[in-house]
Amino acid sequence: ATPMSIMVGVGRAAGRGILIRKGDALQESSRLDVMVLDKTGTVTEGKPRLVHLECLAEDAWPVSLDYDVDKNDWLLAHVAALERASEHPLANALVQASEEKGLTLAQTGIPEVFAGRGLVYDDQNLTWVVGNLRLMDEQGIHVTSATKERIDLLSDQGSTVVMVGLQGQLVALLGIADPIKNDSSEAIARLKKAGVRVIMMTGDSERTALAVAAQTGIDEVIASVMPAQKSDKVRELQAQGLRVGMVGDGINDAPALAQANVGFAIGTGTDVAIESADITLMRGSLQGVADAMIISRATLRNIH
Ligand code: ADP
Ligand code: MG
Repeated sequence: ATPMSIMVGVGRAAGRGILIRKGDALQESSRLDVMVLDKTGTVTEGKPRLVHLECLAEDAWPVSLDYDVDKNDWLLAHVAALERASEHPLANALVQASEEKGLTLAQTGIPEVFAGRGLVYDDQNLTWVVGNLRLMDEQGIHVTSATKERIDLLSDQGSTVVMVGLQGQLVALLGIADPIKNDSSEAIARLKKAGVRVIMMTGDSERTALAVAAQTGIDEVIASVMPAQKSDKVRELQAQGLRVGMVGDGINDAPALAQANVGFAIGTGTDVAIESADITLMRGSLQGVADAMIISRATLRNIH
């Protein structure tokens, strides 16, 4: 490619809100075999909301509450108070839900936050474990098969299920839903039409990931990926001889964006993601990825 034609391509891309930060990223974009998409904030809006709150263990609630205290409110006031320590979008959803209900947050200390899992908090009176199944397993909190069925049902609707353990016992399920961006499906269809294999990669559970994938026309998911493993997954695909694009918005995605042949950052995402990527999508939409590939192919076609 001549420097002139590349400049023209970079300019055309800029006109569509696609900022190419590294010179060869445009040419590389034309040759990608696989596009790996982060889920939260990339395929979905990244603005999750609490849509379901279910207290369990009705006969054997491990804490006795005053008769006039609503169990759901009490639980949310505590979980939200603890989640203030986390910057995860799920944490924000819980804090927001408690604010919208007008709850006064419980007085708590600062929990230990585990990336890709949730949080644990222990004071003299109460022990809280808030997070996913992996965290429950690690903390020795048993999940009955009946409850697993409830979790599966919520997950199949595309909700992320946050489990709450109290005094070593599972006491609540919180269903949190993140709307899919309105143009994700169309962008994914365009990528597939361009002959690109589309894979969604997420720290979320496989069932939730598959539900979101089904709604957006994605055929492959890599789920329950710990934050530190996202770049390993990209490397594994590259080891198969594939040229891999990666699209993400979060701090978690930064190493994978750097590892990919071309990293695309959602422009509304975190600074770390933007700095690690080759291309920034200012419009925050996956359409930008499809546009970038088409512009890059057109640019190279003009040269050969
Ligand atoms: P992703 O960014 O791909 O959605 P993460 O690796 O950040 O995934 O998180 C994976 C999973 O860990 C979440 O789906 C959730 O189940 C759990 N998790 C992470 N942070 C929290 C938190 N602050 N509170 C509760 N659960 C959490
Ligand atoms: Mg994300």
